[in-house]
Order: sequence, then C-alpha cells, then structure tokens
Amino acid sequence: MSEDYPRTLPELERRFSTEEACRAYLFGLRWPDGWLCPRCGDGAAWSVRRGLRRCGACRHEVSVTAGTIFQDTHLLLATWFQAVWHVTSQKNGVSALGMQRALGLGSYKTAWTMLHKMRRAMVRPGRERLRGVVEVDETYWGGEEPGVVGRLTEQKALIIVGAEEDGNGIGRVRLRHIPDLTKASLHGFIQAAVEPGSTVRTDGLPAYLGLSGYMHDRQVQRRKSKGDHLLPRIHRVVSLLKRWLLGTHQGAVGFEHIDYYLDEFTFRFNRRTSASRGKLFYRLLQQAVQVEPAPFQTLIKPQPFGGSGVK
Ligand SMILES: [Zn+2]
Repeated sequence: MSEDYPRTLPELERRFSTEEACRAYLFGLRWPDGWLCPRCGDGAAWSVRRGLRRCGACRHEVSVTAGTIFQDTHLLLATWFQAVWHVTSQKNGVSALGMQRALGLGSYKTAWTMLHKMRRAMVRPGRERLRGVVEVDETYWGGEEPGVVGRLTEQKALIIVGAEEDGNGIGRVRLRHIPDLTKASLHGFIQAAVEPGSTVRTDGLPAYLGLSGYMHDRQVQRRKSKGDHLLPRIHRVVSLLKRWLLGTHQGAVGFEHIDYYLDEFTFRFNRRTSASRGKLFYRLLQQAVQVEPAPFQTLIKPQPFGGSGVK
C-alpha cells in the first residue's frame, strides 16, 4: 500500500465515516504485504465478516484491532480516526480537555485514556538510534518549575536528552525519564538511544566517563557566561519541551506519566519538518496497529523503568 492518507478534515470525515472503511484502512496498514494467518501462516484464502478475517485453511479468526491500541475499545473506530487526526493535525497537539471538547466525548477519562494509548503508538518499534555527533545532557521537570501544578511540585523528574547535530541545527532527538545520575542510568540511555561508533558530546559530569563503544567529546566548562551553552542543541530542545508541557498541557503532567509525554514530544519534534500533517496521521495509525494493546490498568500504573524499550 502506498502512503495513502486524507489531506483535510472534510476528506477524513468523508472517507472514514463507517467502521468498515476504518477497518479496511487498518487492514492495509497492518498487513501491507497481504494478510497471513498468525496461526498457520496461510495467506491464500480468507473471508471477512463484521471486521473479522477468517483463515480459509485453519478457520482461525483475527480482528484487525486485536493486539493493537484499539483492542477492546468501546468507541467507534471513526471516533478514534478523528482523535488521531486531531492530535496530529495541530503542531502542538492537544490536551485531554481540549480533545474531550472537540470530539464531544462523554468523559475526561475517555479523552485522557485515548491520548495515552496514542502516545504508546508514538514510539516506532525498532526505530533507528541517533547517530553522528550527539549531544547528551540532563534536565529536571517539576520541583520549583514555575507554572507546574499538582503533585509535581513535590517531585522532580530527571530527564535525559540526546540531540543529533545537523549542521548548526538539530537532527533527531530522544528523551527519557531516568531515576538518577548514576553511570548505569546515563550509559544505559546512551546505549539505547545512540548508535555505537557515534560521537557523544557531554558536559564534565564524571558519571559520563568510561563510555565504551563511542567517541566521547567531553566539554568541561571553565568559565560560564550568560547565554553561552556548551550543549546548545540540548538547551534548545529542553526549552521547547518545557514550553510545550506548560503550554499545551498547562503543566498538569503527572510525574508517573512523564515518559509518555516525552514520547509524544519526540514524535512531534522528529517530524516537525513534515510538510503534510496527513502524513503524521498515517504514521501514527501505522504504528498504532504495530504496538501492543495498552489496557487502561497499564496506563494508570507506571511501567517499570526501561520496560518499554528505547524511548
Ligand atoms: Zn490459519
């Protein structure tokens, strides 16, 4: 299937007004090279009824939404498609309250859950690590941050950021919430996020020493002048991140969910030059049928550190 996606909201509404149309689209994204029975591997014969595809060889039935973020949803797929459009068509995304209002959803919890499920799909399985020259540094979210509300005022989240050098600009980024500034946490992030053989540029923090498999460009600051940054790309990414958390989400980002917001920020940042918002809609739905389902219980319980792989 070539990259086929709606260009405008009226086009989206016209094309995806029925469950059949939505399912057919998801089928194409999930099995781009044609359907294969997950049980017997037969791809020759199948029939479709009420959204289920039945294997002609072994009679096994598969739903296009099984094993995806749409599994067990009580919402119409058409509503999901509108939600995905809403999230991807706006440069800075949308808060749960904003989405509840825009889609006329019955509850805030429904909107919140949908957004978190979508964030699960914002990390592409098996995506490539950063490469070339990569700046790495840490920042805090919460604590004395002006504008941060709720529980976060008592807790600070330590966030590590990697940003590729691209001329004078920034290439791709990776962000992750880490528990501490130990060697294990810092080196663990670098190994997960940066291709071995790349150059990693850090400040003088001793825990970065002994990085194996990388060239280490260690910037030791001797004199500090205002507005001068040893790691200017990280500085820029961090200020965009904080502006986004305080703007779109008004600082109301739960400490235990920060990783999912980092995933959304990363998804948006790394596609910021995409000419078409429709293409982001396509990408997000494509990834949505490739990730594991995320039942509500796993959304409200924080996952073990590092449990969801590379951030
Ligand atoms: Zn089969």
